Amino acid sequence: MKLHEHQGKDLLRKAGVPVPVGRVAFSVEEAEAAARAVIEETKNETVVVKAQIHAGGRGKGGGVKVVRGVAEARAAAEKILGMTLVTHQTGPEGKVVRRLLVEQGLDIARELYASVVPDRERRRVVVMLSSEGGMEIEEVARRSPEKILTRAIDPAYGMRPFEARDLAYGLGLGEPATGKLARVLQALYRVFVAEDCALVEVNPLVVLRSGDVLALDAKVNLDDNAAYRHKDREALADPTEEDPAEAAARAAGFSYIRMHGDIGCMVNGAGLAMATMDILKHHGGEPANFLDVGGGASKDQVALAFKVILSDPSVKAIFVNIFGGILKCDVLAEGVIAAVQEAGIRVPLVVRLEGTNVERGRQLLADSGLSIVVGQDMDDGARKAVALARGQGA
Ligand code: ADP
Ligand code: MG
Repeated sequence: MKLHEHQGKDLLRKAGVPVPVGRVAFSVEEAEAAARAVIEETKNETVVVKAQIHAGGRGKGGGVKVVRGVAEARAAAEKILGMTLVTHQTGPEGKVVRRLLVEQGLDIARELYASVVPDRERRRVVVMLSSEGGMEIEEVARRSPEKILTRAIDPAYGMRPFEARDLAYGLGLGEPATGKLARVLQALYRVFVAEDCALVEVNPLVVLRSGDVLALDAKVNLDDNAAYRHKDREALADPTEEDPAEAAARAAGFSYIRMHGDIGCMVNGAGLAMATMDILKHHGGEPANFLDVGGGASKDQVALAFKVILSDPSVKAIFVNIFGGILKCDVLAEGVIAAVQEAGIRVPLVVRLEGTNVERGRQLLADSGLSIVVGQDMDDGARKAVALARGQGA
C-alpha cells in the first residue's frame, strides 16, 4: 500500500526525522486556513502548496508551487485541487488531485537523496544515500552510479551509529550536517523496520544553511504482507487512488495487476502467469494484466476474475491459460460460462486447458454455445490470442 506524502511525513516525524511544518487540506478553504496557520507558526511568509497523489515527479508536472502569503497560497490551491496531474509516474492518463499538503517553504542549501529498500541479491535491507537529490534516482544510477552510496544492514543489529556516520561521511558535508544526517538515516531505517515497509524514500532530503537536515519529500510504501500486524493501517488507505478492478480483485483474494497491453490473461499460479505474459510478448503481443486466480478458486471467484478482466476497456482478446491442479478445469469452465452468461463478452476468447478434469472442462465449454478458440497448447493459444487482439483471424 502506498502512502501520501503527508502520511509518510507523519511517520517520519514520529520517528524523530525533522520535517517541515505542514498541514493537509481537502478544499481551497482548508488550504487557506492551513497556509495561515503555517505562516503563523513559522513566522515566514513562504509556503509550498503540494499536490498529494500516489506518484512522484509532481514538481515537474506543476503539482508543487512555492508562494508567498495566504492569498497566493489560496490561488495555488485553487489551481492544483481538482487538476489532473500528469507525471512520469502517473502514466499518460494522470491522477486527479483531491488533497494538498501546505507546508513551510525552506531555504535549501543542498538536496540529497536517501532511501531504505530491500535488496534481494544481498538479502538485506539496504540504506542508500546520494548527493544527487531532487532528480530521478534511476537517472543517477544510469549516469553516475558512483554517486550512490549504499550500506547493507544486518537485521540482528539494526543500523548502528558508526554505520550511519560512515555512510553520511561519504558526502563530505562537514559538521554539523554529517552528524544530523547520520541520525536521520538511522531513523529512516527504524521506520522501515517498525512499520514493515517495502520502501522509504526521501527525495530530496535537504540540508539547510544552518546545517539542519530535513525530509522535504516522503515516499513510503507499506508491505501488504504485513498488514495483519498493523490493524490501524486501513485508515491510511486512499480508495480514490486505487484502480477499482485491482481493489475488487484484492477483496476477492486473487492478484490482479493492470498492465498497458490489450490481451487479458486469466491464469492460475504466479509462475504460469509470468510465463503466459512472456509467451504473449514473444509472439509480439502485449498483456493487459497479470492475473493469478490462485490454486483453489471457486466457480464464483473465476467468474469475478473474468469480469474484472472484461472491465478493462483496452482488452481486445482474452487468453485463458489454466493448468488444472487444485483448481479443476471443469470448475474453471463453469466460472467462465457463468461470467459470460451474466456479463456478456465483447472480445474473442482463447482457452487452453490442461490437467485435472480437462475433458469435462472442454466438454462444458463446447456445450455452452460460446464462441471459443481452442489453444492446443500454450504456444498455440498465445499465438492465436495475439492474432485475434490485432483483429486478425486465428
Ligand atoms: P516530487 O518528487 O513529486 O516532484 P517533491 O516533494 O520532491 O515532489 O518537490 C519537488 C521540489 O520542490 C523539491 O525538489 C524541492 O526543490 C521543492 N520543494 C518541495 N517542498 C519544498 C519546501 N517545503 N520548501 C522549499 N522547496 C520545496
Ligand atoms: Mg521528490
